[in-house]
Amino acid sequence: MNTIVERKIRGFISLTSHAVGCAKAVDEQIAYVKSQGKFNGPKNVLVIGASTGYGLASLITTVFGANAKAIGVFFERPADDKRTASAGWYNAAHVEQAALASGHYVKSINGDAFSDDIKLQAIDLIRRDLKQVDLVIYSVASPRRIHPVTGEIFSSVLKPIGQDYCNKTVDAFRGEVKDVTLPSATDSEIANTVAVMGGDDWERWIDFLTEARVLAPHVVTVNYSYIGPDLTHPIYKDGTIGQAKAHIKRVASKLNHKLQHLQGEAVISVNKAVVTQASAAIPVVPLYISLLFKVMKEKGTHEGCIEQMLRLFKNRLYGAEKDQRDAEGYIRLDDFEMDPAVQAKIAALWPQINNANLAELTDIEGYRRDFYRLFGFDMADVDYTQPIETAVGIPSLLESVQV
Ligand code: NAD
Repeated sequence: MNTIVERKIRGFISLTSHAVGCAKAVDEQIAYVKSQGKFNGPKNVLVIGASTGYGLASLITTVFGANAKAIGVFFERPADDKRTASAGWYNAAHVEQAALASGHYVKSINGDAFSDDIKLQAIDLIRRDLKQVDLVIYSVASPRRIHPVTGEIFSSVLKPIGQDYCNKTVDAFRGEVKDVTLPSATDSEIANTVAVMGGDDWERWIDFLTEARVLAPHVVTVNYSYIGPDLTHPIYKDGTIGQAKAHIKRVASKLNHKLQHLQGEAVISVNKAVVTQASAAIPVVPLYISLLFKVMKEKGTHEGCIEQMLRLFKNRLYGAEKDQRDAEGYIRLDDFEMDPAVQAKIAALWPQINNANLAELTDIEGYRRDFYRLFGFDMADVDYTQPIETAVGIPSLLESVQV
């Protein structure tokens, strides 16, 4: 459908996405990676959760920075006659188009990564085109999971544990700072969140791939985590999502044993807080991110997904900083965020933030801009008054339909 696409935000959800703007945002990430030069990295990559945020940046970095061949798995919605596609759909379509235009290999699988069927589809595609993969990135962020064996539906919650938690939060689009009280999670809510966002599905993917013998010797598998400062611990690190992240750590240890026969490794990278669909849903965190951006931009250390993923793959996983891990074995890409000088400034400013000084003390404008850009809005050089084609195809998915 050829139509003018306007921005429509409800809460922290965008009801529309702009195909041309999403393509531009992908192009910016590709251009950044190319500007930093080639590096020796993985050869064949599987990215689970490849269409937005850290997963998309991981795929772009390994393909356009290290000439890797990549298969991306994601769960996105194509356009229909009433709605635009989801932003991740447009991102994936454009990554494939950019890859085709420059002689790179990128193919996609769209469906529920938690299901066995999608795992088997990925294995078929690996066998057909790549034979084996030497890097498996797990970057799924989802509010629910249907268990592939029991059919049970788990929903994750973002809640504190042990006691209710009250702090400031922001409605970024109304520019309103307000107090929020979050009730403490029940045991079943904790278990459900771990079932969705913990490491169970990561382990199942690695088990399936191992069984199918499509993991190369010295394979590396990476999952992403977040720790953050004391300020957000009750809702993040010590909350339900933190329990899920503690679970991926235990799974990483298990996977390290399971991958021994290949001399493979399972590793967790602790990334910086950035604006993505996943982080926008967490109470308190958007206000923290707005303040963090202000302080890090002033200091000249601000990064988005793509800058961090380049540091991860070029330096920390395949480069000179290969052995840089913290005492817990994590790769710490949040080092600039956790800089004591940055955190001291945030801790001092946090109690002062109110409606009147929000724009001055924080980078709420930058937060909003990053949020709009997730959906292809607010991009320079895009004329949003012009009609665009909303029904954009993903080349490899069109191909598989024709076969
Ligand atoms: P995101 O919302 O931008 O991306 C989620 C991806 O998962 C998308 O590609 C989506 O299509 C895919 N997905 C969701 N459900 C799926 C399903 N059922 N099947 C297949 N694919 C599915 O998320 P993000 O913020 O990039 O988060 C990725 C990881 O990074 C998470 O583990 C998150 O905790 C971690 N992380 C995020 C931040 C942050 O600030 N955003 C910071 C540190 C770590």
